[in-house]
Amino acid sequence: LQSQLRDPSLLKADALINGQWVGGGSRFAVEDPATGQVLSEVADLSAADAEAAVNAANTAWAGWRAKTAKERAAILMRWYQLLVQHADDLARILTAEQGKPLVEARGEILYGASFVEWYAEQGKRVYGETIPTTDPNKRYLVVQQPIGVCAAITPWNFPLAMITRKVAPALAAGCTVVIKPAEQTPLSALAAAELAQRAGMPSGVLNVLSASADNSIAIGKLLCDSPLVRHLSFTGSTEVGRILMTQSGSTVKKLALELGGNAPFIVFDDADIESAVEGAMVSKYRNAGQTCVCANRFYVQEGVYEAFVTRLAEKAAALQVGHGFEPGVQQGPLIDGQALEKVERHVADAKALGARVLQGGERLGERFFQPTVLADVTPAMLCSREETFGPVAPVFRFQTEEQVIALANATEFGLASYVYTRDISRVFRVSEALEYGMVGVNTGLLATAEVPFGGVKQSGLGREGGRQGMDEYLEAKYICLGDV
Ligand code: ADP
Repeated sequence: LQSQLRDPSLLKADALINGQWVGGGSRFAVEDPATGQVLSEVADLSAADAEAAVNAANTAWAGWRAKTAKERAAILMRWYQLLVQHADDLARILTAEQGKPLVEARGEILYGASFVEWYAEQGKRVYGETIPTTDPNKRYLVVQQPIGVCAAITPWNFPLAMITRKVAPALAAGCTVVIKPAEQTPLSALAAAELAQRAGMPSGVLNVLSASADNSIAIGKLLCDSPLVRHLSFTGSTEVGRILMTQSGSTVKKLALELGGNAPFIVFDDADIESAVEGAMVSKYRNAGQTCVCANRFYVQEGVYEAFVTRLAEKAAALQVGHGFEPGVQQGPLIDGQALEKVERHVADAKALGARVLQGGERLGERFFQPTVLADVTPAMLCSREETFGPVAPVFRFQTEEQVIALANATEFGLASYVYTRDISRVFRVSEALEYGMVGVNTGLLATAEVPFGGVKQSGLGREGGRQGMDEYLEAKYICLGDV
């Protein structure tokens, strides 16, 4: 991998604490999910290292918060420019450890970098307010202050973007951060940290703790228990989110949780079917179906059902599957064997309960799964309740608007949802009735740096991106001035 990079020094195997690269007590292997080949032996940090990082971040906080927003913005802008300049190398690192096709990886680098740019600008607009007084001798003021040391625990499916989406607003607000990237994908995080160093980030302001699965649990506990850590932002599974929420009770920590989804993708009879199929393809097969906003359940109205599934199956059949570095590849491997087994389990269960396999349905060797389309799917099947997190599109049939809203909402999750219709009144009725944090209308892609991304119900707490994503990292302080 190193020999394929224009700037080989971006491939870091050590962690970053207080501006120093540290090797840790032991190392763990990071593999290419497409081949199983070991890419690197990365520093495996312990809870004691995490404590050192938290202390460094806490010490660095005083200097960082004392800078003006404009000074912080200048450093963030340099970081943004370096991320963009090195997009090709960063994309190679990302594809190598995560598996997604190189074009998608490059897209993620630019998307990830866009949070740094946007929050560098937004940091200059953290306004307080004055409130009309009810007492002639007093004045009421509100100022916004950085919350303090922030911890970020991130997943493997977007190894760069899930970091910048948390870290950029935190840094712009004047907070310092300790990042614990996923054990499968620490290399992207370390490369981004190297570029932050080059951008002039002061020591201790941004720390990255690479760690194996076992040490990640211990580090997670330390970060939750530490009274110095004032905010914890996590993206990952609902199960781990629950653990972190429980652990954070002892320190009454502010939490942002971006957890699992079970996104419905609804196609009404009056939709533009070609556009709906297009949207379905990006929403479902991007990142091999491993995104938390991936359409998990397709609901198609009976009048267009056969036309939709036939076209979707044709398009899915045409997807090129292979190693992300190969030109033309549109779908890479799944992250690991367990992920592959889950997809197989969902397909086997659906078949046993009467689903028709229109396309795919089988694994391709040890690490890949065919782009799959299942028709005649029913609510009794596993894939209607659980997030498949793989390239499987289960398609349900529905009759009425009322019925599909009830079906779509019948889940404990509430992250993304999608609706295809050309009836403007229905757009409003359905968007308002869906119990989801986000609704894509006539589009299968909705995430961007400027908007609040997040879920309701057991999909999580808080919003990332946009003006709301900055509020996470600020505390409103009320100042009451008397004797006026
Ligand atoms: P996935 O199922 O997609 O791998 P996880 O929720 O297991 O997602 O992992 C997301 C992140 O949470 C990773 O960085 C992982 O190391 C971390 N993690 C997993 N278990 C724990 C835990 N008990 N405490 C803290 N972090 C954890």
